[in-house]
Amino acid sequence: MSGKQFTVLVTDKVSGGSLNALLDDDRFEVVLIDDSKDPSFKEALATANGLIVRSATKVKAEMLDAAPELSVVGRAGVGVDNIDLEAATARGVAVLNAPAGNTVSTAELTMALILAMVRGVAEADASVRKGEWARSRFKGSELRGRTLGLVGAGRIGGTVAKRCRAFGMDVIAYDPYLTDEKASEMGVERAELDAVIERADVISLHVPLTDDTRGMISKESIARMKKGSFVVNVSRGGVVDEGALAEALTAGHLAGAALDVYENEPLEADSPLRDAPNLILTPHLGASTSEAQELVASEIAEAVRAALAEGDLSRALNAPAVGGEVLRALAPLLELGCGLGTMASVMAPGGIQSLDVRYAGSSDEALKPLTAYVLIGLLRPVLGAEHVNFVSAGHLAEQRGIKVARTQMSEHADYTEYVELAIRAERGELRLAGALLGDAHPRIVRIDDYHVDIVPSGSLVVLKNKDVPGVIGRVGTILGDHGINIAGYHQARLSRGGEALAAVSVDGEVDQEVRAALLQLPEVSAAVVVRLG
Ligand code: NAD
Repeated sequence: MSGKQFTVLVTDKVSGGSLNALLDDDRFEVVLIDDSKDPSFKEALATANGLIVRSATKVKAEMLDAAPELSVVGRAGVGVDNIDLEAATARGVAVLNAPAGNTVSTAELTMALILAMVRGVAEADASVRKGEWARSRFKGSELRGRTLGLVGAGRIGGTVAKRCRAFGMDVIAYDPYLTDEKASEMGVERAELDAVIERADVISLHVPLTDDTRGMISKESIARMKKGSFVVNVSRGGVVDEGALAEALTAGHLAGAALDVYENEPLEADSPLRDAPNLILTPHLGASTSEAQELVASEIAEAVRAALAEGDLSRALNAPAVGGEVLRALAPLLELGCGLGTMASVMAPGGIQSLDVRYAGSSDEALKPLTAYVLIGLLRPVLGAEHVNFVSAGHLAEQRGIKVARTQMSEHADYTEYVELAIRAERGELRLAGALLGDAHPRIVRIDDYHVDIVPSGSLVVLKNKDVPGVIGRVGTILGDHGINIAGYHQARLSRGGEALAAVSVDGEVDQEVRAALLQLPEVSAAVVVRLG
C-alpha cells in the first residue's frame, strides 16, 4: 500500500517523462508497467483508480471486472476503438481521450502528402531507384492559386487550412458546425459538400467516422470531382470508398490520392489500393511523431489527474462533459436534483416510463449534469450506490427503458434556480419541483399540484389525506408514539374540505410499522416514506 489517495496504472510504453501532472501531485501514485500482458499488470489493476493506455491494450469487460476500484480510463491519443465504451459506461468508468496533442503532427503529415501527391514524389523516387531518369514523366502542378476543399474544419482541418493558405491556396470548407465567424477567422469560405466536391483541386478529409461520414466519398461523389483533382485522407478509413477510389485513379479521373487510414487496418494484402497508380499509402502515421506522443501523454495525464482529484469530466466521452469548477458551482442544484430523483423513485405511480428534467436558472451548463444527478437519485434506491454514478446513470436509465428528456426553460416567475421533473409512469403521472433559495438553500416546492416548502433532508413522509379537522394531531401522535421527532409539517390543499397533501419531514428513520399505522387512520389514503440524503 502506497498510502497515496489515488493510484494510476500506466501501460503501452507511455513515457514516464510526460506524466508530470500526476508525478508532481502528492496525492498520486503512478505505476508504470509497459506491457499489459505482464502478470504484474493484473495485480496492479486490482487496486488502480485510473488506467492510461495507448492503442495496444484492449480494455474490455473482463479487464474492467478485474479492476473494482477503477473510475477513469485515459487513452493517450484520439481513437478509443480499443476500449469497450459500453462496458465502461455500464460500470460507471469514465473514458477520456486526448484529442488535441496530435493536431499539428497530423496536419503536417497532411501537408507532406499533399505536396508529395501533386509533385509525384513517391513515384519519382521509385523510378530513380529503378535506374530511370524520366524527368518528363513527372510534371507536377503548383499548389499556388489552387483550391483546397476541406471536409471537416475542426482542429486538424483548421490547421491544414492555415498551412495551405501559406502556400497561396484558396480554401473552401464544408462542416455543418462551422459558423461564419469561425470561417472568416480561419480565412476559409464556407460551402456545401457538393460545392466542395465539385470545385476543389485538392480535397482533404478531416471528419470523424460517424453514420453521416461513413462512405461520404463514394463512387458518385468521386465522379463529380474535377478531372485531374486530388484526394487526401488522414482522418478515418471508412470515410472513403476504397474500391471506387482505386478505380478512379486507374481510369485517370483523379490525378492522385494519398491515404493514411483505411477501412481495415492493417491494409489487406489483396486490397485494390495496393495496385492503384498515383496513390501514396502510409500506415496510419498521422500522430507518429515524438512531439505528438509526448503531447498526448501529458494531455491525458492532466485529464486523468483532474478527473480523479477534482471530478472534472470535461474530457469524458461517456459522461456529461462538465469541468470540475462548474460541478463545484452547481453542487447545491445537483444535490437538489438528486433528492427529487429519490422522491420520484418512491412516489411514481408504477414503473417510470419517461422523465423530463426541466430547468430554469442562470447556468447554460447545468441541464446535462442535473439530469445525470436526477437519474442517480432515481436509480440508486433500485440498483445500489456502487453501480449508479455520474457516468453510468444515463446508460442505466436507457437500459431500463426510461425515456429521458431535458428542457431548458425560460425564467421562472418565482425562483431564480428552479428544477422540475415531469414523470410518466405505468399508472399515472407525477410532477415534482424544487428550487434554490438564495442560491444555495434547497427546497422542494411542488408535489403534483400541491405547492409545498420542504427542506430535502432526513426522512420525508408524504401523505394524502382528507382535509378535515384533527388529522394533523393524529399523525403527530402516531409519529410521537414511535419516538419520531417532527422537523417540519407542511399541509397543502387544492380546495377546502377536499383532498390534502401533507409533507412531514422528520428526524431519523420511518419504518414500515409506522407507515402501516399512518395508513390505518381513516382520513389517510396514501403514505410514502422517502429517505433523502
Ligand atoms: P475535430 O473534432 O476537431 O474536427 C472534426 C470536425 O469534423 C468538426 O469540426 C466537426 O464539426 C466536423 N464534422 C463532423 N461531422 C461532419 C460531417 N458529417 N461533415 C463535415 N464535417 C463534419 O477532430 P480533429 O482532431 O480535427 O480530427 C479529425 C479526424 O482526424 C478524426 O477522424 C480523427 O480521428 C482523425 N485523426 C487521424 C490521425 C491519424 O493518425 N491519421 C490522427 C489524429 C486524428
